[in-house]
Amino acid sequence: MRVIFILIILFVNTVNAAEFAITMDDPNTFSKPLFSSEERNQKILSQLNFLNTKAALFVSGVRVNSDEGVNLLKNWDREGHLIGNHTFSHMYYNNSKLSFEEYSADIMKVEPLIKNLDNFEKIFRFPYLKSGNSKSKRDKVRSFLKSNKYKYGYVTIDASDWYISDRLEKRLEKNPKANIDGYRTYYLNHMWNRATYYDELAQKVIGRSPKHTILIHHNLLNALFLKDLVKHFESKGWKLIDAKEAFNDPIFLQEPNTVPSGESIVWALAKENGGQGLRYPAEDGQYEKEKMDKLGL
Ligand SMILES: [Zn+2]
Repeated sequence: MRVIFILIILFVNTVNAAEFAITMDDPNTFSKPLFSSEERNQKILSQLNFLNTKAALFVSGVRVNSDEGVNLLKNWDREGHLIGNHTFSHMYYNNSKLSFEEYSADIMKVEPLIKNLDNFEKIFRFPYLKSGNSKSKRDKVRSFLKSNKYKYGYVTIDASDWYISDRLEKRLEKNPKANIDGYRTYYLNHMWNRATYYDELAQKVIGRSPKHTILIHHNLLNALFLKDLVKHFESKGWKLIDAKEAFNDPIFLQEPNTVPSGESIVWALAKENGGQGLRYPAEDGQYEKEKMDKLGL
């Protein structure tokens, strides 16, 4: 009996033992509650340092196009984190009024801000994870990225940390002494919920857990709780790896045939395979609003 019990535990742990890396979008120098923008950035970096991990930072130029922004990027570079391209203006490529020509120019426009950093690599992430509202726009940008030697910086685990952070910031703007424990709990549960969802979806579609890239943002929520998030995943048996290692997984070479194109690469592959019951957009604040309202967050 005891042997069977131990075997079951071993089996459960093996099933859940996925690997994940931190990929963070949209570094910025915005003014937010609790910390200065410099302190906020420092808190994110020191947690990554504590976790002994190298993340990937996807840079949208418009948010760091200043002396302070350039300094922020230098600090990330000095710590050895991978630096990727996230366009200059952070436009929504699935907007039918936005042309491939305008968008591709915007991809190149951010390069002067990042290309001289030691840890810059030609790896590209679409803002909002939107990669084309028509087959023609999707295929043009794919060819453009390839001819400019860019790799895809896909997300495997999409989530809405930005929405939780927005609400946390609004609460603190109203009351700087508000108790914020509930935001931490909500955040950890939300991320774990999305992680298990995308991991199970991946196992169905590609038959295995890929090396995951979780999408989070450079915000107050992560200045406060990034370390707790990683510890939460580790407590479930998941293993933190460097972003560069994660991006070597063959899933990042995939080009799913879906229109509109985008979302998590796992979601898009499921969609391509006729996946039923996939919501669209895959992630958004609208799915979290009611739950957070109920909890008074
Ligand atoms: Zn972004």
